[in-house]
Amino acid sequence: MIVGASENDFFGSLRDFFGSGAWDVARNMAIFFLVVFWLAVAYWVFKDARRRIEDPWLIAMATLLGLVPPFVGALIYMLFRPPEYLEDVRERDLEIKAMEDRVARRELHCPVCRAHVDDTFLVCPVCTTKLRQACTTCKAPLETLWQICPYCETPVDTPTTIEFPPAPQRERPSSG
Ligand SMILES: [Zn+2]
Ligand SMILES: [Zn+2]
Repeated sequence: MIVGASENDFFGSLRDFFGSGAWDVARNMAIFFLVVFWLAVAYWVFKDARRRIEDPWLIAMATLLGLVPPFVGALIYMLFRPPEYLEDVRERDLEIKAMEDRVARRELHCPVCRAHVDDTFLVCPVCTTKLRQACTTCKAPLETLWQICPYCETPVDTPTTIEFPPAPQRERPSSG
């Protein structure tokens, strides 16, 4: 088998390259950047986990997973990490709580027909259920627990607890 002169030169120079320090330098540089990238990925996992996870032990576990196995661990972390940031969860919880407070404050319903009623109504305007008693002197609507009218100081002689008939069961359309 005859080997061309140019081919011979090529392999010769390749051998020279691997034999020389240039190959070592290139290899060391590649390893160096790989290690830097590996540590950067692990640091990113640590930062991301801190924003999503409350438990410091779980954060440590996630960071460890970001380190070992290299790169693959970070991918596994991304598959299983909590979908939301902690601050978003807290913000949403606060919003929901504020909304519930608003609803509890504003929305007063008739216990019988669930119609919207004002807290000064004596009877439900829809189903005529008696909601509260009026003061015998000034006709102001009284709260059920009041023992005396706060507007004219007339004592509430009759018990103001009002017996409501049991609320009707809400008919639900059968699904399916
Ligand atoms: Zn009603
Ligand atoms: Zn009164």
